[in-house]
Amino acid sequence: MQKDSNYHHILFEKAVIGLALCKMNGDLVDVNEAYAKLIGRTPKQALKLSYWDITPDKYKEPELAALADLEKTGTYGPFEKEYIHKDGHLVPVRLSGQLIELGGEQYIWSCVEDITDTKKAERRFERLRKKLELLSFKDGLTNIANRRMFDATLEKEWQRAQRNQTPLSLIMIDIDFFKQYNDFYGHQQGDECLKIIANLLKRVSKRSMDLASRYGGEEFVLLLPEIAQEKVELLAQKCLDVVREEKIPHEKSKISDVVTVSAGACTIIPAVDSPSHKLIECADELLYKAKKSGRNRFLAA
Ligand code: GH3
Ligand code: MG
Ligand code: MG
Repeated sequence: MQKDSNYHHILFEKAVIGLALCKMNGDLVDVNEAYAKLIGRTPKQALKLSYWDITPDKYKEPELAALADLEKTGTYGPFEKEYIHKDGHLVPVRLSGQLIELGGEQYIWSCVEDITDTKKAERRFERLRKKLELLSFKDGLTNIANRRMFDATLEKEWQRAQRNQTPLSLIMIDIDFFKQYNDFYGHQQGDECLKIIANLLKRVSKRSMDLASRYGGEEFVLLLPEIAQEKVELLAQKCLDVVREEKIPHEKSKISDVVTVSAGACTIIPAVDSPSHKLIECADELLYKAKKSGRNRFLAA
């Protein structure tokens, strides 16, 4: 192949990646087609611009700092930024540059790659990641928070209550004679019953800081930060009431002809060094006693 005098210029012009030469003050003195296309111009139009004309304001300060480094290190970037396209939209790019000397003058010689597709894929991935994270904290059957979410929130709230010396309450709720319900009405109807009760209980705790979760099987928990014990007792009673008033038939319950629940409600201002499972043990113990003493009731402490 014969390399004529135009050889390198053609390679420059036709490179897939954007190439630009600019003065230290930012004036563009040579750009290839790919670079001009990135900003919606022809190379000739681009040469009327300064690098700073196509750089959004938010990048100017960090880039001026990078330019100061360029004098020391001889390189610029690589970093991700955006260019202002002719029609006003921003084009995400990855840019790297270096200091070069031509005819006794200093210039910045930069390579610029369009990363629009990479950015789109990153955003798609981030949306998906958030969706998966949300799903991982939800109970698949009832759609309320799951045990994982409860464990994480309990730990957080327990530490907060410990720090601020504020009360943290837990109401543990268990469906009465649910095994008999399942055996008589079938597992599928059992699932439907769990869904209804989960959503009734979720509506009992209205504040954004409250958390209703499925603890496991036919057990649910309400985690209630910063409320007085009297209020917690009212809420525990409300849990019992809303379930009973839903009037879900339960022929095999030994205490009622509709589905009922029992609950244990515990309020603690956590002492320093006291572990969070104290709250669970306390509520569980009270629930156990509520079951023993006849079900369809709650005990609180
Ligand atoms: P108690 O009044 O003492 O609470 O008695 P119980 O029958 O409710 O309690 P037990 O722990 O003996 O039985 C719980 C039953 O809950 C056992 C199981 O069949 C049912 N169960 C647990 N998880 C699910 C579920 O995801 N779907 C359905 N349909 N049933 C479930
Ligand atoms: Mg149970
Ligand atoms: Mg039960």
